[in-house]
Amino acid sequence: MKAEEAISRLAVHFRIHDDGRPTPFLDEAVAVAMVALTKQIPKKPLLINGRMKCPNCMKNDRSLGYYCDCCGQPIDWSDA
Ligand SMILES: [Zn+2]
Repeated sequence: MKAEEAISRLAVHFRIHDDGRPTPFLDEAVAVAMVALTKQIPKKPLLINGRMKCPNCMKNDRSLGYYCDCCGQPIDWSDA
């Protein structure tokens, strides 16, 4: 299962439990998991002033590879 699918399924959790039932214990865990999964999805680098920047932290313009050395953001070079 890819991170995108897992995030989609976890988002259903909030829709299912949006009926007023108290589930704060599980809601917090699901929210943390969704944030962690979102950080695993590769993002395209940003071209700013002729330099490639990490789309997450905007740093690491010289040695940007498949992962940002500063924040660990996976970089998607598929269309670059
Ligand atoms: Zn970064």
